[in-house]
Amino acid sequence: MANDKISPGMQQYLDIKKDYPDAFLLFRMGDFYELFYEDATKAAQILEIALTSRNKNAENPIPMAGVPYHSAQQYIDVLVDMGYKVAIAEQMEDPKTAVGVVKREVVQVITPGTAVDSTRPDSANNFLVAVDSDGQTFGLAYMDVSTGEFFATNLSDFTAVRSEIMNLKAREVVVGYDLAAADEEVLVKQMNILLSFEKEHYTDVHLIDSNLTSLEISAAEKLLCYVHKTQKRELSHLQKVQHYEIKDYLQMSYATKSSLDLLENARTGKKHGSLFWLLDETKTAMGMRLLRTWIDRPLVSLEAILERQSIIQVFLDHFFERSDLSDSLKGVYDIERLASRVSFGKANPKDLIQLGHTLSQVPYIKAILENFNAEELDSLVNDLDTLPELENLIRSAINPDAPAAITEGNIIKSGFDEILDKYRKVMREGTSWIAEIEAKEREASGISTLKIDYNKKDGYYFHVTNSNLSLVPDHFFRKATLKNSERFGTAELAKIEGEMLEAREKSSDLEYDIFMRIRAQVECYIDRLQSLAKGLATVDVLQSLAVVAENNHYVRPSFNDKREIAIENGRHAVVEKVMGVQEYIPNTIIFDSKTSMQLITGPNMSGKSTYMRQLALTVIMAQLGSFVAAEAADLPVFDAIFTRIGAADDLISGQSTFMVEMMEANQAIKRATVNSLILFDELGRGTATYDGMALAQSIIEYIHNHIGAKTMFATHYHELTDLSNELTGLVNVHVATLEKAGEVTFLHKIANGPADKSYGIHVAKIAGLPVELLMRADHILENLEASAVQLPLQEGDFKSASLEISEPMTEQLSLFADANQEIIDALKAIDIMNLTPMEAMSALFELKKML
Ligand code: ATP
Repeated sequence: MANDKISPGMQQYLDIKKDYPDAFLLFRMGDFYELFYEDATKAAQILEIALTSRNKNAENPIPMAGVPYHSAQQYIDVLVDMGYKVAIAEQMEDPKTAVGVVKREVVQVITPGTAVDSTRPDSANNFLVAVDSDGQTFGLAYMDVSTGEFFATNLSDFTAVRSEIMNLKAREVVVGYDLAAADEEVLVKQMNILLSFEKEHYTDVHLIDSNLTSLEISAAEKLLCYVHKTQKRELSHLQKVQHYEIKDYLQMSYATKSSLDLLENARTGKKHGSLFWLLDETKTAMGMRLLRTWIDRPLVSLEAILERQSIIQVFLDHFFERSDLSDSLKGVYDIERLASRVSFGKANPKDLIQLGHTLSQVPYIKAILENFNAEELDSLVNDLDTLPELENLIRSAINPDAPAAITEGNIIKSGFDEILDKYRKVMREGTSWIAEIEAKEREASGISTLKIDYNKKDGYYFHVTNSNLSLVPDHFFRKATLKNSERFGTAELAKIEGEMLEAREKSSDLEYDIFMRIRAQVECYIDRLQSLAKGLATVDVLQSLAVVAENNHYVRPSFNDKREIAIENGRHAVVEKVMGVQEYIPNTIIFDSKTSMQLITGPNMSGKSTYMRQLALTVIMAQLGSFVAAEAADLPVFDAIFTRIGAADDLISGQSTFMVEMMEANQAIKRATVNSLILFDELGRGTATYDGMALAQSIIEYIHNHIGAKTMFATHYHELTDLSNELTGLVNVHVATLEKAGEVTFLHKIANGPADKSYGIHVAKIAGLPVELLMRADHILENLEASAVQLPLQEGDFKSASLEISEPMTEQLSLFADANQEIIDALKAIDIMNLTPMEAMSALFELKKML
């Protein structure tokens, strides 16, 4: 494509596009946003819009596609949702007055991590993450551009960075350092994250404290820089960076949260069937968002947990006040996002009406909270800023029926602005004044058919038929002559016409100006609106937890520092909700201070996983401040939960199920402390029986002897139940079954001691496998049981084996553990470092001979 063929307009497009090679460029042309070249072909395909071309007859026509500007948002949403960036180039001058090509500029780049205009009704946060590193440790900052929330922390390694990015469900990451190729692959290929590289800083002392670490500051500044480059405006709603530490919250990996169905049901990806679904009786979008955060980040500070509990207790003790409170929250809009719309210059009259409406509810909400007469609520009450001046301004200025558009008038209430009122009076009364003039002149002139008409060319005029021309008064002047009539004006009519025209033209401009002024005034209140939003969200979440506790008969858990768990008749809150209270069999979970581990045996489908998840959910609910599904509960405060439950995690693609299982076991073993909770469901099942059993046993021993974390270990390896003889902190429990006349009933009830058998064949029978096959399985089982190897292995079986599973010898030795001691001794005696290859060969030969 030779340059000389390019029109000035196209040249402008190319000049702009050059700066946004990685974005779809939406180029405003009149009522359309146009896309060209590759952008057009790609967008036409994705958005299913028509692909045409510019310069059709030229040798190389330019592919082109367009979307109407008024419905552009839905197309932008689709592109951004799919992980693309979209740059919006607007016309910067009025095409009517422009000389040459209309000036155009990119006014905003919308990216997956900065999207705020989404028309989808989704109140969840959208976090943009930035990471920086000095090659050793990492600084991570994140922000929700739509609410202005801004946080930063330090992380020790890339695994922690990855885990935090997953936990935040970020779709875009701003990278401020030279990212290792392998790490880039993890982020892009496995986690499907859009990376943007940013080397520049944007310093803002109001947002970024100097007492953060230099890596936190640098990550936060690069994030700010990226936000400024894409949003291209000053954003007054961005909040000051808050420092946090991962250990300030109950630590759980993304896989753990997902397998426990905290925010969504892992199987369906839907809210239904998740803990969030169960606990969500919030009335506001802000409350809903905060509840998600609370579930995602349960607390470890006992004081903070107890504070939430005590407020819920007050709400439970005052039924009537609480239902008033819940009702009053229904009129509260998402002022956090409204505030950001003001900051983005996007707030329309309807937004301000919603804001005003919310503000008018606040004194009422405050009064209800005061009516509880409980000092536990003092901080809630004090956090609610009523902002009467702002409420007053909006109430007196904005018409409650105002449209969403800001250019069409009817926004400002009468009585607010004198000039606007005058214009409106003229518009309203102008027609009756004209009717009055018409009647007056008709009578004075004696022309009984005299009437006033209007058309665009002549404006208002007296219509006089030719037969009456002699009666036309002197002060009439001729405006036009037609075949059978003539048109006249008068000075009086012209004056009124002028006033009416002026009023019509100027009033909508004036309304627009007044609205802009009010919006600018609202912008001064953004900080206070954001704190009010936080206060309202907190009230909403706490009332929601109270409602759920009451509806489902939950109890307030207590906490102990003796590492004891005592849950009396506890239930898996979500399963109970789904299946109904009558159907659900409660289970008591007891770990005294000496017990660290429960080995759970029992048939498939009997309820082992449900029992384990019950404990995890109870802990999470308790630590987020909620009441729990039990008759009584006393718990330690846990620092972390590690799980290996359910199917392999899809996110860590490229790894076998067994590998994922081992990686998760490794995470637990490396990171868990005596204050952690570990749940392992059938660990080791993904490999050969002895292999799996050997690993399971050594993992149990390692956790028991070296970590002491409270652990539930569900297994089909009945042989492992003998470990309770060796490991004093381990107790056996099993899921009880009832066997009568060859039929088995699962009671879903946990009882002490090990299970006697597996009932796998019974489950196969329920599943409808052929009778012949089942009989054969029974027969094989009998034979296998008769010739079974005795496990578990005792410590003495391989005295030389270290319990450090990282020692490769351990695995090897456990495989040979029933071989005789002589071989072990011989092996031990070999000095590998001083062996020639030939000596090694002969040592091996000797060992084999001994076997
Ligand atoms: P598998 O070993 O096959 O994974 P499991 O022993 O872990 O099975 P779960 O998945 O916990 O079994 O439970 C199987 C089903 O039993 C659940 O889907 C639920 O419907 C029912 N169930 C479990 N626990 C209870 C309970 N306490 N009360 C009532 N029903 C229960």
